[in-house]
Order: sequence, then structure tokens, then C-alpha cells
Amino acid sequence: MMLFELLEHYDFGAVHVARDAASGMHAIVAIHDTRLGPAIGGCRFLPYAAERDALVDALRLARGMTYTAALAGLPHGGGKTVMLRPDKFFDRAAVFRAYGRFIDGLGGRYYTAEDAGTGIEDMEVVRQVTKQVVGTGGSSGSGDPSPFTALGVRRGIAACVTLRLGRDSLEGIHVAVQGVGHVGYQLCRELFEQGATLSVADVDVLKSERAQREFGARVVPIENIFDVECDVLAPCALGSALNDATIPRIAAKIVAGAANNQLAEPRHGDDLHSRGIVYAPDYAINAGGLINVALELNGYDAAKSRDRTMRVYDTIHEIAERSQHSLTPTYRVADLMVEEKLAHAVH
Ligand code: NAD
Repeated sequence: MMLFELLEHYDFGAVHVARDAASGMHAIVAIHDTRLGPAIGGCRFLPYAAERDALVDALRLARGMTYTAALAGLPHGGGKTVMLRPDKFFDRAAVFRAYGRFIDGLGGRYYTAEDAGTGIEDMEVVRQVTKQVVGTGGSSGSGDPSPFTALGVRRGIAACVTLRLGRDSLEGIHVAVQGVGHVGYQLCRELFEQGATLSVADVDVLKSERAQREFGARVVPIENIFDVECDVLAPCALGSALNDATIPRIAAKIVAGAANNQLAEPRHGDDLHSRGIVYAPDYAINAGGLINVALELNGYDAAKSRDRTMRVYDTIHEIAERSQHSLTPTYRVADLMVEEKLAHAVH
């Protein structure tokens, strides 16, 4: 597909591209939709085999941010940056200053934040040249969003457990967590504190062992996490975890985790539905981090952020309930809810 075909396929929007010769910065900023407000979305800084892959990543992720923001009731649209990580030596601060100047010139339509391959320190460099950044540290920013993402996922799991298993507590619920990195680890903490039992798998054995030590989790080989006899499967690693190979193996009645783009293809959402598995749409359940950084723009308050994130329960409950009543897969119900909100936005 060529550029404009890709934009049509992902229902876009605008794409801005910049190159800074002095620092070696090459950045793609995808702004999917601004009907609800200026776009927010993180900045990835990774090596990509092909420029097309980088563009597709930016388009897919930016669209997801529009959907997350709309369902979370935030006055924002979705955007995403993909920066190509140079394969030779580079001056990191110079790259991020150049990036900051680039997004400063986008007329206030986009706020950036950290994402895969970037950190709070990079965003602090960006802040030196623009106000169009959230999720920095210190007194001006809200810091690491992962604990808020994990809180929202725990609340989303609780909503699914109520509807699918008829239980109003997570006490004794067995959750298998794939990936115990930033969010997965915090999710284990949240679940452990609610009395859930845990199985975990991570390619990094040290991370699995930390969850075992701190939360009594059972460590499972990564290839076996989909086979665990459990109540909930929580994908918290990479995208496309739910696919033709994994879905037939899932023993859980609920799939609810933080990872973005969990469905390898939309039809996999239909497969889950026809197997009686309640799937919490990824962009709806992982909203806590976005809620947290977005609140920075109106004077950050951690307690308020926590309250807003707790409401992920209501969003997931509404999606799952509508799905039950209309016999429609949850991912479709969520998409329809977003499309309704966007259609009614004043622009
Ligand atoms: P992370 O890199 O800290 O954690 C991911 C973990 O998954 C790592 O520990 C990694 O070793 C592990 N992993 C990779 N492949 C695996 C495999 N095949 N099996 C088991 N483990 C594997 O990332 P994160 O910030 O925790 O984010 C996790 C997911 O949640 C990502 O998809 C991210 O896009 C999404 N997400 C994160 C946030 C946030 O606040 N950090 C917000 C929304 C969505």
C-alpha cells in the first residue's frame, strides 16, 4: 500500500515527518483525530527494519490512542510518534531537543510522552524546548504512568469477574499474567493485594522470579502461559498475543490485560466471543496511564487521577454488559461506543 492508501486504511488524519541533519533525528508524528481535543500519545524510539513498518506502527498506535481517550472521557484525540533509532553513535539529548522543536511547530495539536525506547529523562529534554509534553518527572510532571495503567487493568478485570463469573471480589481468582515488566509487575501487586493467586511468565527470568518472591506467583515457561487453567489471562507483553495459535489453548473465561493491539486481527475478537471468553478491549482497559498524563494539563492531582482510573471498571462493565445483551463481541461494542462519541464531538 502507498502512503495515502495507508492513511485511508487507518482512517487518518495527518502525518508529519521531520529530519534533523545535525542530530540525526528522523521522526514520524501521526495525528489520528482531534475532534475531542489535542492529540496525546507517546514517542517510540526503536530501530525499524523498514520505514513502512515505522509508519504503520505510528498509524495503528495513534488510532488506538484516539479510542482510549474517547472511551475514558478525556478531551483529547490520539497521536503517536515513531522515531527511527540511529544505528550509529548519536547524541541522545540533541535528538530529543530536535524532536521537541519539531512538535513545538505543530500548532498545539499534539502532546508527546514516553513510550517504548524512551523514558522520563528524554521527555525532560523535550520539555526544555516545548510545553507539548506530558509524563515528565519532578514537580512539573506525573512520572511513571505504569502503576495507573495497572490499577485500571485490575479494575477492568474486576468488572469482567463480576459479569462472567458472578463474583464481586478478586479473592481466590487465579490470574495468569504474560509479561511482568512495568505494568505486569504493578498489576501483580494490585491483584495480590486483592487476594488473587498468580501465574506469571516473562522472557526475563529475573522479572518472573521477582513476582514469585514478592507475590507468591507460580512461574510458568513462556510457551505455556496460554494453557494455564485459570480464571483470567492478562496479556501484558507485546501485541498480537491473541491469534490462531493461542486462542484455542486459552482455558480462562476472561482475557483482560494491558498490552496494546492484543488481537492479531479483528476476527480474533469474534473467535474469543464464540468461545464464551469475555475479552476486555485493550484500548479501553489500559487507559489508566493516559488518564494520568492527561490530567497534568489541568494541574496534576494523583488522587484525582486514581479516582478517574478506578472508573475503568464502569467502562469495561458497560462494554461487557452491552456485549452480553446484544450478542456482539466486546471489541465491536467498544468500537461502536467510540464512533458514537466521535460523531457527536463538536468540531
Ligand atoms: P515492559 O517492556 O516494561 O514490559 C513488557 C514485558 O514483557 C517485559 O518484561 C518483557 O520481558 C516481557 N515479554 C516480552 N515478550 C514476552 C513473551 N513472549 N512472553 C512473556 N513475556 C514477554 O512494557 P510495559 O510498559 O509493561 O507495557 C506492557 C504492554 O502494555 C505493552 O504492550 C504496552 O504498549 C502496553 N501499555 C503500557 C502502558 C504503560 O503505562 N506502561 C500503558 C498502556 C499500554
